[in-house]
Amino acid sequence: MKELKSQFVGALLVILTVTAVICAGVNYQQQARFHLPDDGATWMDVPNTADSEQSLRVVAAHVERDEPADLAGIRKGDIVRMIAPVENTPGVPVRQASDVAQLLFQAGVWGKATYTLNRNGVEITAKVIVADANRDRALYFQYFVGAAYLAIGIFLFFRRNQAPKALHFYFLCLVSFILHTFHYTGKLNSFDTGIYIANVVAGLLAPALFVHFCLTFPEPRRHWNNWQAISVYLPALSLILLHLGVAMGVVHTALPLIEMRWVLDRAWMLLFCASYAAGAVLLHFSYRRTEDTIIRQQLKWLRNGTLAGIVPFAALYAVPFLIGSVPSPTMRLSVLFLAFIPLTWTYAILRYRLMDVDIIFQQGYVYMLATLSVLGIVYLLVFALPKRDELSPTSVVLLVLVAAFVFEPLRGWFQQQLDRYFFYKDRYDYRRTLIAFARELSSEMDLDRTLMSVGERLLSTLSVGHVAFFLSKENEPGFQLHTALDRDGGRRRLKSERLDLSFLLDSPEDPYLFFESTRHALDIVTHGKAPSVRATIAELDLTYYLPCNFRGKTLAWLGVSRSNKGDFLSSDDIDLLASLAGYIAMAVENARLYRSLAAKAEQYERLKEFSENIVESINVGILAADLDDRVESWNSQIERLTGIPRIAALGRKLSDLFPEELGAHFDALRANNQVHQLYKIPLRRDTLALPALNGNGHANGNGNGTSNGTANGKSKVERTEVIVNLAIAPLVTKDGARIGRLIIFDDVTEREDLERRLVQADKLSSIGLLAAGVAHEVNTPLAVISTYAQMLAKQVHGDEQKSKLLEKIAKSTFRASEIVNSLLNFSRTSSSEYEALDLNKVISETLSLLEHQFDKHAIAIEVDLEEGAPLIRGNAGRLQQVFLNLFLNARDAMSNLPPGQTRRLSLRTHGEEASVRVEVRDSGAGIPRDHQSRIFDPFFTTKGMQKGTGLGLSVTYGIVEEHGGMIEVESNPGEGALFRLEFPAASRKPVNA
Ligand code: ADP
Repeated sequence: MKELKSQFVGALLVILTVTAVICAGVNYQQQARFHLPDDGATWMDVPNTADSEQSLRVVAAHVERDEPADLAGIRKGDIVRMIAPVENTPGVPVRQASDVAQLLFQAGVWGKATYTLNRNGVEITAKVIVADANRDRALYFQYFVGAAYLAIGIFLFFRRNQAPKALHFYFLCLVSFILHTFHYTGKLNSFDTGIYIANVVAGLLAPALFVHFCLTFPEPRRHWNNWQAISVYLPALSLILLHLGVAMGVVHTALPLIEMRWVLDRAWMLLFCASYAAGAVLLHFSYRRTEDTIIRQQLKWLRNGTLAGIVPFAALYAVPFLIGSVPSPTMRLSVLFLAFIPLTWTYAILRYRLMDVDIIFQQGYVYMLATLSVLGIVYLLVFALPKRDELSPTSVVLLVLVAAFVFEPLRGWFQQQLDRYFFYKDRYDYRRTLIAFARELSSEMDLDRTLMSVGERLLSTLSVGHVAFFLSKENEPGFQLHTALDRDGGRRRLKSERLDLSFLLDSPEDPYLFFESTRHALDIVTHGKAPSVRATIAELDLTYYLPCNFRGKTLAWLGVSRSNKGDFLSSDDIDLLASLAGYIAMAVENARLYRSLAAKAEQYERLKEFSENIVESINVGILAADLDDRVESWNSQIERLTGIPRIAALGRKLSDLFPEELGAHFDALRANNQVHQLYKIPLRRDTLALPALNGNGHANGNGNGTSNGTANGKSKVERTEVIVNLAIAPLVTKDGARIGRLIIFDDVTEREDLERRLVQADKLSSIGLLAAGVAHEVNTPLAVISTYAQMLAKQVHGDEQKSKLLEKIAKSTFRASEIVNSLLNFSRTSSSEYEALDLNKVISETLSLLEHQFDKHAIAIEVDLEEGAPLIRGNAGRLQQVFLNLFLNARDAMSNLPPGQTRRLSLRTHGEEASVRVEVRDSGAGIPRDHQSRIFDPFFTTKGMQKGTGLGLSVTYGIVEEHGGMIEVESNPGEGALFRLEFPAASRKPVNA
């Protein structure tokens, strides 16, 4: 309804304005073309007292100097009897004043009329050359004043907004325009009558409208009501009625008509001047009362303009006119002063934006065009009707309906067309830069930077005083100040830190908030708010607050002050801000999303790092493979176990990396959804796809890999084989989908070693006990056998055959006791003394015992004993036995070698911080792999019953263990054997000591 009403009023105003302008134009033309013949005298009807024939006498009330009547000698007070309009024709009697005008009309301009007059009872004639009615120059100035009013009115009307006083002001301007430009020519046809009436009505309405305006601008006074408004118009209305009544002859008075007119004119003049003066006084009071500086300025200009117009006019024209003098042409010029009124108002409007004048010009154009089109359509329809003259009520209703329905679509269409081809053509660039800017906004992720750049852009394009951004709080309702920028784009410092922003709502109803005067208590908008809110509004000093909405949510508020010069923003600017607010909301949302994303990413990164750290620092090798068995993850522990670096492993198939039998295991368990364990799987490096080894040309599986490795000076034990326990587990996502599997390699080599040694020790200790028992029991019978055999040998002296048999018995007994002694040796637990000793010395001494033996078998000896190696705690005799056993085994291994093959025994010692290492290497036939685990077992021998007892290495093992040391063998068949021993340095207490 409101929309419809404003549309209706708009259309009505357009029609009124257009009509007024056209009428003024026609009137002006007639004014120029129509020459009213005039004799320069004012004739007045005076009731006749003497002459009974004539009821009225027509008397010259005023004779203008130097005008035709004056020149012809007519004086004030002369009575006209007859006028002959054409020379030498009989005179026509003059019965009333209006007859003079008619006869002059017949005579025409420059015609010669002969007047028959009666002056003081004497009949005289006067020849009057009829002139053009004096063209009043003041008339043109009036047009100027009227045009000024219309211009300012149209300016306001086309930029009219919902500004409350705009419509009122426009009426005032329009009425003033009519007042100043409608002048009846005197022709007195119906158009002229219309002009006359319009002029009278406008002349009386304008002062009333002005007083009404002054009473209600900028806000209605308190206790203002409609009755008061009507009372302002009452004097004007009554005068209008009186005027019209007299003009139409309805009202009769005692006064002659022309005098009545004078009285009415004077009354009008009084009302006009008094109203404007009263308006100025009212404006002055408003000015005194108002606190807001801008409104004060506006009021001051309005007041001064009114005074500048009305005071000279009143002084020079109105007052003399009122006291009875006939206005002279110079007096009439004072009407020019009235132009001050619209001119100063225009200035005030432009300078101080008297009202929100800046609503789009275009709307006015659009309404005008739409109205004209609708009128055109209606006329066309009327024209098309067969019986044009008698329109039936139905067709009138139909026409109105058509007009009503057609108006809105037409308006829309005009708006669109004008927007496209006319209004926004110039603004296109502006809009484009805005869109570009908006794009920039959405690509920027840093909120601070975004808001700073928006703020700077606003400050520079709208030249506003300052801007501020308020962002919604993240976890609670309400807003907080984010950035406030001053005019130079710097951060603005607020005096008080505590702001009450409760007036910024989460879902505002208004398109924006507007606080006309932020600093003063005058603004009615803020009246209802809490004191803290009002203090905040004053502190922030922002006139506009625009909500930044995104998907129906207010994410931020944009606060904008007035312009640098204190002007309000135009509605265009507000529109621009509103669209910008949308982009700001988007940018805020983007930035927030981005920030939470970044936080999540960081969290994820940290989590990943954490889990990777766990995987890395865990003591087991872990590999993850996808469903195709391609490696996706390979930790450093598994790198160490397999010797395959991560880069080489990633993306490769398990079957390419691991030996076939393991691959077969993996394949078999592929479909298995349970965690599966495989125990004690040997993982030999030479069976793995080691990229470096492959590259060096070392063939897989030929077994010569690392036994040589130790010979070239590497001190650290490098294992060629590790024993692992495998756990194969499916890799599933949260919702149970299988995405691959996880294989965990647990290196159990050392545990396995330990276990084996424990078993060995266990075995040895039980055998030791057994042996000790048996040895004691066997030793005695052996001694008996040996003794008796020797006794018998003495007795059978001379009997070759018998003494040979007895010798064999003694020898066998000796061998048996040797075995028994070994057994006893084997079972002897650390009863002997321990001391700090030099292992090198023990080795050298043992070697010197056997030098002869080695020479005999052509075995070269290579000795590399590190001097200064730490001492160890031990028993020299028992250690000698260790090395004796090792050397003898080496000798045996090499003595069978075919001639020409290298026979060399290498000895090497190396001291470490807490231990001494010894290596005994021979170049014999080596130990087959399946024997390697058994050589330390008692009675394991390959040397045949006659030569070997199989106890040597077991005894050696036992002694090394006693010393807290360790012994292990490494051998590749055909390449000799290497025995590694390690003894703890003397500072450390031997475990078994
Ligand atoms: P014996 O020497 O009485 O056989 P050992 O316990 O000393 O008993 O040795 C056990 C076995 O270990 C030997 O029979 C031999 O097969 C093997 N052996 C020991 N040392 C070597 C070596 N250096 N080279 C090859 N084989 C060896």
